[in-house]
Amino acid sequence: MGYPDTFQGFCVDGPTTWNTFHKSELKPKPFGDHDVDVEIAACSICSSDLHTVTGGWGDYKGPLCVGHEVVGKAVQVGQHVKHLKVGDRVGVGAQVWACLECHLCKDKNENYCPKLVDTYNAQYPDGSWAHGGLASHIRAHEYFTFKIPSALDTNVAAPLLCAGITTFDMAAYLSILKPGADFHMVGLPDKALPEMTAGLFAAGAPKLTGSHLGNHQEMDALLKLAAEKGVKPWVELMPISEKNCGEAFQGQKDNKFRYRCTLTDFDKAFSKA
Ligand SMILES: [Zn+2]
Ligand SMILES: [Zn+2]
Repeated sequence: MGYPDTFQGFCVDGPTTWNTFHKSELKPKPFGDHDVDVEIAACSICSSDLHTVTGGWGDYKGPLCVGHEVVGKAVQVGQHVKHLKVGDRVGVGAQVWACLECHLCKDKNENYCPKLVDTYNAQYPDGSWAHGGLASHIRAHEYFTFKIPSALDTNVAAPLLCAGITTFDMAAYLSILKPGADFHMVGLPDKALPEMTAGLFAAGAPKLTGSHLGNHQEMDALLKLAAEKGVKPWVELMPISEKNCGEAFQGQKDNKFRYRCTLTDFDKAFSKA
């Protein structure tokens, strides 16, 4: 089997072998009218990925394919998908589905939907599993698939999909906002925010807000802001492979990257058969 019936992904088997990756076949959910299939070009590594594979957030059963800062090309779109077409460069973050019917979803709080499906290690209501971005493809609902502005490079756009804007130079980002504008944290860093002076807030009256992930509109706004202002996450690149996945996750654990590791060259790692 192969795409579109199965995807290939670099997976781990369990917390005791968290930095040993092997290529496995993954079965995606059945393709729906609102789904988008993305042929992945790059995926950066988030602390959540590390917390998950090491078992920090609980035990799991492999093969598990993590990764939720995904950029690639839309290769199949469901018949009801309106805002994307085949060939678009798109990104997928830490959420791939919500009911879009409950009052939270209707209030643009789909990132708090009680039925939400995370990008990996999560099950859809029909029982199928969601698989992450260290893979040949990812299947996500169109509402959680974002068009990447052309000004953003694929490898540096990837971290925006979850970390959003990492904390290392939050002060710099706050200072470039329009006066009174919002700086919305869409990531959940596991470290304290950096010290910020009162002067920074006095200068431009920026508002600092936070949330779990961020909703659809905020993600679009973030990508637009990054494209317009030339915001570039600092990334170190590594071609994806079983060995490099292990090294990348070890490096993430050792806090070695300045400041994000983006795995690249997916086209070479996955056959197009
Ligand atoms: Zn993340
Ligand atoms: Zn909902």
